[in-house]
Amino acid sequence: MPRIVIDPALVERYVFELAEHGAYAATGVWRPAYSPAWQAAQRQLAAWFAQAGLSVRYDAAGNVWGRLAGQRGGPAIVTGSHIDTQQPGGRYDGALGVVAGLVALQAIFAQHGPPRRPIEVVSLCEEEGCRFPGTNFWASRAILGLIDPAEYETLCDEDGISIGAAMRGAGLNPEQLGTARRDDLAAFLELHIEQGPVLEHAGLPVGIVTGVTGLRQYVVEVRGSANHAGAFPMDLRRDAMAGAAAMIGEVIAAAAALGRPAVTTVGRILAKPNYPAIIPERVTFTVDVRHPEAQALAALFARHEASFARIAAECGLEVDWQITLDQPPSPADPALVELLEQAASARGTPFARLHSGAGHDSLMLARIAPMAMIFVQSKDGRSHTPAEFTAIDHAVAGIEILADALYALAWSDQMTR
Ligand SMILES: [Zn+2]
Repeated sequence: MPRIVIDPALVERYVFELAEHGAYAATGVWRPAYSPAWQAAQRQLAAWFAQAGLSVRYDAAGNVWGRLAGQRGGPAIVTGSHIDTQQPGGRYDGALGVVAGLVALQAIFAQHGPPRRPIEVVSLCEEEGCRFPGTNFWASRAILGLIDPAEYETLCDEDGISIGAAMRGAGLNPEQLGTARRDDLAAFLELHIEQGPVLEHAGLPVGIVTGVTGLRQYVVEVRGSANHAGAFPMDLRRDAMAGAAAMIGEVIAAAAALGRPAVTTVGRILAKPNYPAIIPERVTFTVDVRHPEAQALAALFARHEASFARIAAECGLEVDWQITLDQPPSPADPALVELLEQAASARGTPFARLHSGAGHDSLMLARIAPMAMIFVQSKDGRSHTPAEFTAIDHAVAGIEILADALYALAWSDQMTR
């Protein structure tokens, strides 16, 4: 494979200039979907795509695509990530994957000319779902044709602006969202910051992702009787807090005992009536359970649900649980994983195989195309904060692997689909 040279100064320039759109405090970025800062960032990327020799188009969702036509037609190889941030987020989550795709295509095109098959970089409009709760993966859902028209007007931000109105404000027409659908992707590759500390602890710049974790979220409601904290002896109580506390302790201990990569988190708890001197009659808490292997995930669910039922019975309480989110694990495409590993080995870049514990656009796009991801090291494992940081040499190590894989797929045409 010919050597593709990635310019670290260009990577750094794109990352820092993009971060000016929505710059927040010293190192943060606050770039909610369809906001003026978001619009400016997409315009900036469209301009860079054009300067790199790509043909540029916006789709109806506001995703910006840069394309190199292939000498032959057919489905396109696609790379990219999302441009929206948390409120506030940092410079790297999402944005680095768009910059990586741009830098890789720009370098390969300049050094090796047009590809044999079509290749595109995409700046996805919205992944985080934090301006409009309920809109996670808006961009990739639009590409899959999964957005229900009822969502345009009902999903609103804190100011009561619907996502449909925000889209119109950005010059987009939500009625046209159906036209953003794609069914001609041959592969999707995404570079993303790790968002965890595993690579840093291992002293590695890069991770090759074997799949995106499966997850289930529960809302558990424990019901007992509200009574006076002084007047009721312990043995006569139906204390919803005592039951909830035992359940929370047990589910967290179960995941800890199973060890990596199992994780269980209780992130939210509400007590009723929530007074210091009243035994709570109702405690509601969330449980978030993740594991990248389907069987282990199912076993962990079963164990947690057994804990809820058994502890409620032992404490004389009632319990109900609702599943509010249920996503099966999404394995990366084995052939693409192997291609990325070969690229890393050929470069002499040390890497770890790991799974993604967070959801990504790749999780959605895996439904229509073989998918793989590259992670680059996050300092202190931080993300979704202005403190997130990835060293440029780690970013470049990931982009080199991405570029080599894209070259193999679109220029050498190492794919039959
Ligand atoms: Zn992200």
